[in-house]
Amino acid sequence: MNCLICKHTHMKEGTTILPIERGNAILLVTDIPAQICANCGEPYLDEDTARDVQELANETLAGEISYAKARGERTVLVAPFA
Ligand SMILES: [Zn+2]
Repeated sequence: MNCLICKHTHMKEGTTILPIERGNAILLVTDIPAQICANCGEPYLDEDTARDVQELANETLAGEISYAKARGERTVLVAPFA
């Protein structure tokens, strides 16, 4: 697989962090297993992992979105994936 950013071909196993924003709430999902471009550090998730990250985000943010909206300020949450 080639990196979409720099076209480098070498990927290494690693983990990454994804920010997911819904309304006023931001969830940082950490420790997501990913292929990391050895050249520029761009992370690539496989389809199953990407779907699981979205599910984790939906579950975690479900109650927080209305809570953050009621307070009228940004809420930042952190959820470890692994
Ligand atoms: Zn790259």
